[in-house]
Amino acid sequence: MSYDTNNVFAKILRGEIPCFKLFEDAHTLAFMDIMPQTEGHALVIPKEAATTLFELSDEAAAAVMRTVRKVGLAQKAALGAQGVVLMQLNGEAAGQTVPHFHVHVIPGSIADLRKPHATATGDMGQIKALAEKIAAAVQA
Ligand code: AMP
Repeated sequence: MSYDTNNVFAKILRGEIPCFKLFEDAHTLAFMDIMPQTEGHALVIPKEAATTLFELSDEAAAAVMRTVRKVGLAQKAALGAQGVVLMQLNGEAAGQTVPHFHVHVIPGSIADLRKPHATATGDMGQIKALAEKIAAAVQA
């Protein structure tokens, strides 16, 4: 899959589309999923242009995992999440819908993920409030 510079996450990285930002550093951006599978569902993306894990550099992969850990810890602290599920889809055949590498950071249990993926837009007011709580708990 060649990288499509017009995908929605590339537009978020360029500031062309808004997001509920949780954390940003030189290599990564963390923000809320607007079709959440649980309350607090977040995404972490690299700034590097890569469609799947298989095109991502080792350096960007490490940076993404550092940010994933920050976001998961913040979800635990801010929301009292007992569990945090990571999900990462590679390729349309796997169900990937946005062709820019991302890790889903989902507070809750695998049982919560049985409902369909990326189908219904969530309540923006609730997502914003959750974003503020999680962002405030992210340790730099
Ligand atoms: P995947 O199916 O693994 O590619 O996941 C893509 C995720 O991006 C889905 O969970 C969508 O809900 C989410 N998503 C799509 N558009 C946006 C957007 N504009 N802001 C935040 N999340 C989005």
